[in-house]
Amino acid sequence: MRMVDEFFGFGSTTTRYRTRTERGEDVEAVLEITLEEAFQGGEKEVEAEVLVTCPECKGFGALGGFKRCPDCQGSGRITYSRQAGGVFMRTMTTCPTCQGMGQVAAQICDTCQGIGRIERTRKVKVELPAGIEDGMTLRITGQGNSGKAGGLPGDLYVTVQIKPHPTFRRDGVNLHMDLSLTFPQLVLGDVVEVPTIDGKAELTIPPGTQPGTVLKIPRKGFVSMRSGRRGDLFVHVQVTVPTELTEEQRKLLRQLAKTMGVEPKGSEPSWWERIKERFKKQ
Ligand SMILES: [Zn+2]
Ligand SMILES: [Zn+2]
Repeated sequence: MRMVDEFFGFGSTTTRYRTRTERGEDVEAVLEITLEEAFQGGEKEVEAEVLVTCPECKGFGALGGFKRCPDCQGSGRITYSRQAGGVFMRTMTTCPTCQGMGQVAAQICDTCQGIGRIERTRKVKVELPAGIEDGMTLRITGQGNSGKAGGLPGDLYVTVQIKPHPTFRRDGVNLHMDLSLTFPQLVLGDVVEVPTIDGKAELTIPPGTQPGTVLKIPRKGFVSMRSGRRGDLFVHVQVTVPTELTEEQRKLLRQLAKTMGVEPKGSEPSWWERIKERFKKQ
């Protein structure tokens, strides 16, 4: 018969109470911001679900101290013996009752159910760098879960999500927007005011601008976090086709069409105009 104790490294089985100091886990949170907030940067507040040290038991999970574990008699281990193939085997496992601590709580803390930490929503201030990009993650040291048994707290990782903007689309440091103009504005040219991420700008529409033309307003985009250089605003020109016209507008448009050598089929005069025309001829 051979004893195989050594294989398992059986040590002393003295009663002890181990204080397992552990660093708290890192925690992740998402911060949703507007495109304007990403442009400006500055302080924002994020809510994070974290585990904090239970104020009732100060993180011990127990009230009224500890007592020797009844299942392992304080050794922290449970040994099973069995015989297999003429060899006497001893299998050792960590005591599930005390998780190897050798001691159990005299009285479990009700506040944390003996875990030592409780869930809390913590409001954490975050300093956003101006020009932050969608999906970037910021680390806030020491704002994660509280440590176990006096361990250091973990960190908080905040991932920034930028909400879609009703006007602007972002492409790196550049911004893009659509601008609808009327046919006369495109044909004759115009100077219009357009919104920018931080105010307004004047945009010159050259005469004969085609729909789909992209006009650039320099340095009205985002400021690069790396180089400090400011990107541009690109305006995608579109044409608005009016769906409702007055009789006069219709008449003028028909006259214009005629000078251009076209007579759109949908431009039939109304009955009222036909009557008026008839009177004029007489
Ligand atoms: Zn035990
Ligand atoms: Zn507690």
